[in-house]
Amino acid sequence: MRSLVTGGAGFVGSHLCEALVARGDDVVCVDNFYTGRRANVAAVADAPNFELIEHDVNTPLALEVDRVFHLACPASPVHYQRDRIWTLRTAVLGTMNVLELARTAKARVLIASTSEVYGDPLVHPQVETYWGNVNPIGPRACYDEGKRCAETLTVGYADQHQVQTRIARIFNTYGPRMDLDDGRVVSNFIVQALRGEALTLYGDGRQTRSFCFVTDLVAALIALIETPSDPGPVNLGNPAEITMVELAAAVLALTGATSGTRHQAAPIDDPARRRPDITKAQRILGWTPQVELADGLRATIADLGARLDPTSSA
Ligand code: NAD
Ligand code: UDP
Repeated sequence: MRSLVTGGAGFVGSHLCEALVARGDDVVCVDNFYTGRRANVAAVADAPNFELIEHDVNTPLALEVDRVFHLACPASPVHYQRDRIWTLRTAVLGTMNVLELARTAKARVLIASTSEVYGDPLVHPQVETYWGNVNPIGPRACYDEGKRCAETLTVGYADQHQVQTRIARIFNTYGPRMDLDDGRVVSNFIVQALRGEALTLYGDGRQTRSFCFVTDLVAALIALIETPSDPGPVNLGNPAEITMVELAAAVLALTGATSGTRHQAAPIDDPARRRPDITKAQRILGWTPQVELADGLRATIADLGARLDPTSSA
């Protein structure tokens, strides 16, 4: 099996590359290092069945592969809002290029979509049949609408060109190798706690998210691409829902920090509640996330701590 992972030097992609290398696939990782890092794939860099190609998916590419995991796209609000037009280009044109690659190679392709296709959801928990509530002109639109369009392209290639496609709607995922500066809540809180700074709660902190540990997500991505037929979009995430106030308390307790919290203005269009209904994933993939939040946070704190202070043995 020859598997391509676009965005393979990113947070999720690097864990996926490792799992595929361990499974014995020949793995091709394509990344332009917009947010990814070579260090993320250091563990597999010397493996005989791993290859890293520096390439921007906005430029077409052709590779002979059997499986394509298309993850290349900035994912955190800070990064995807830095250049909104480029983000939209990557989500749309980049995805079209990858679908063309899959079509030419006759490969099966999984597209990393997102819970953001549901926007600020009016249906809770979110089921795959819900069409979402997205502001098309807000600061998150480049990502949300880009991913919605990526889904549209994906079903187009399946229907018009008989490409074998899978759509993963990924909910908030966390774990080791999160970028220290990408502004996501888990990495922000851990870095702030380890630095003895107050944790920044945006808005009143009563908004909710549901956090999935990265190894659970990777297992689901691999299971989804191997489903014998296209089940349509599948939510992948951990349904355990918590408020940001509760998350801050958990991080403070696990790090032993006494720095407390401070409130900042809520971002525009920040979704108020988010929790996946994973009934479909459980039925089709026989998958349920295994890692409890406290355990996953401990592993993430150890990794971010070691990177913040390379001299420590954390
Ligand atoms: P990340 O930013 O760590 O990884 C994205 C990777 O894609 C990086 O290595 C980056 O350099 C690369 N990339 C970006 N644009 C590219 C381009 N034009 N050409 C080539 N490479 C490019 O983010 P992540 O958290 O690992 O997310 C991976 C995928 O999963 C993304 O598609 C994201 O939308 C999706 N997703 C992630 C989450 C999450 O919570 N982590 C949630 C929903 C969806
Ligand atoms: N958030 C926060 N403090 C931070 C960073 C984020 O309170 O330092 C909040 C943010 O407003 C959102 C939630 O945490 O409600 C998750 O934010 P993140 O950027 O991690 O992911 P997303 O909004 O894409 O789900």
